[in-house]
Amino acid sequence: MAENVIILGSGCAGLTAAIYAARADLNPLLVEGTQQGGQLAITTDVENFPGFPEGIQGPELMELMKKQAARFGTRFVTGDVTRVDVTKKPFTVEIEEQRYQAAALIVATGASAKFIGLESERALVGHGVSACATCDAFFFKGREVVVVGGGDTAMEEATFLTKFASKVTVVHRRDHLKASKIMQDRAKANPKIHWIWNSVVADILDPAQKKVTHVRLKNVIDGTQTDLPCGGVFIAIGHQPNTGFLKGQVELDPNGYLVLKKGTQTSVPGVFGCGDIHDVRYKQAVTAAGWGCMAALDCERYLQEHGS
Ligand code: NAP
Repeated sequence: MAENVIILGSGCAGLTAAIYAARADLNPLLVEGTQQGGQLAITTDVENFPGFPEGIQGPELMELMKKQAARFGTRFVTGDVTRVDVTKKPFTVEIEEQRYQAAALIVATGASAKFIGLESERALVGHGVSACATCDAFFFKGREVVVVGGGDTAMEEATFLTKFASKVTVVHRRDHLKASKIMQDRAKANPKIHWIWNSVVADILDPAQKKVTHVRLKNVIDGTQTDLPCGGVFIAIGHQPNTGFLKGQVELDPNGYLVLKKGTQTSVPGVFGCGDIHDVRYKQAVTAAGWGCMAALDCERYLQEHGS
């Protein structure tokens, strides 16, 4: 028998959608991918989510949201979605070998920050390596940090970080920036921002101490390596929406983000989207949660009108 609604994604958007859908008696089924809890699950201190005056650890916050969704009857399955078919109703969702059907879908599979791909980078995420200055800049008061990238995200992150860090060094692999002129001009006029051109971060030290002590830079022209002491590294080389399985099924923008209209509705009636999968602007836990609520309310209304 088809489900009323299947929610794809277990980050802030998906779990908030589940809380609302479960409390609306929709008996939702939520698919948790292999990175359960979304981006907050790989973060440490979260100090800007309302309701936690002392802050909370990202994984703990996600565990609490999951408990809250379960309390009202959300059911969970684990696995990565391999295929969806929204060309006919009920919609089909395939999770590895399993096949599920539903009258409505809420897609909340988020976006992943791109990382350079170093082992040391992975080991130090949440311990000095971050992909979100808005979330983590506060922890780097009075310290020297490195920002990797040459696009608008890197300019925005570097500029924001100067409110906290004593010195921000942008490391870029070319001798010119990709960022828009206005963002470049603002960053270049900021005396706290320093620049290292034609260079990549070849390694981040020191995973053994569970903290960032310096980066090893490699000049891409002559291959020379130098060490730059710093207390944090912000990777700002862009995001990748997790929409591969939606290609050809719903409208995506040229960067692969979900296109929404009338609140949270996608190009296919009955398929709703929320969170970082469509949000290129705010990308915050609390905004993702807000969109999750909106998607569940839109979904509830849709099922009332079209039958479950
Ligand atoms: P982006 O424009 O694709 O820039 C990514 C930057 O990271 C590029 O400079 C790229 O180098 C570098 N890079 C990529 N992979 C790398 C790697 N593995 N190692 C080292 N460097 C790497 O991405 P974005 O800055 O996130 O911007 C995405 C879109 O959002 C853009 O359209 C941008 O205008 C928009 N945006 C707007 C704002 C705003 O207006 N406030 C803020 C943020 C983003 P290359 O230069 O060599 O390609």
